[in-house]
Amino acid sequence: MKICNKCLKNKSEDKFRDHKKTCRQCEWRFAQRWLRVLVKERKLSPLERIANRLGYMGAGFIMISPYLLSYGKMGAITYIFGGLLCTPQVWVAKQWNLVVVNLNVTLGYLIYLYNL
Ligand SMILES: [Zn+2]
Repeated sequence: MKICNKCLKNKSEDKFRDHKKTCRQCEWRFAQRWLRVLVKERKLSPLERIANRLGYMGAGFIMISPYLLSYGKMGAITYIFGGLLCTPQVWVAKQWNLVVVNLNVTLGYLIYLYNL
């Protein structure tokens, strides 16, 4: 026996498709069916996963950078690392505007660091 997450009724296993929490009857309601058609199920590839992890790390670096800028070169260095680490994620996602922003952060703070 299993509880359907839609109608909250206790039903036997044969009323459910494999690994589904919604019973067949609820799944076949028009609105539910329409939403299923609109959503494409997919898993992230290993490249996308590693790019996402690097992106989080880069975002962390960019987040702490403004507070470190007044402590010599440290803030600029963390900005450069942040920009470089965030680039793979947006490159894989083909978000070219954000690729340009990240490369601009990196280049801008390299120039800033050179002039410091
Ligand atoms: Zn149900």
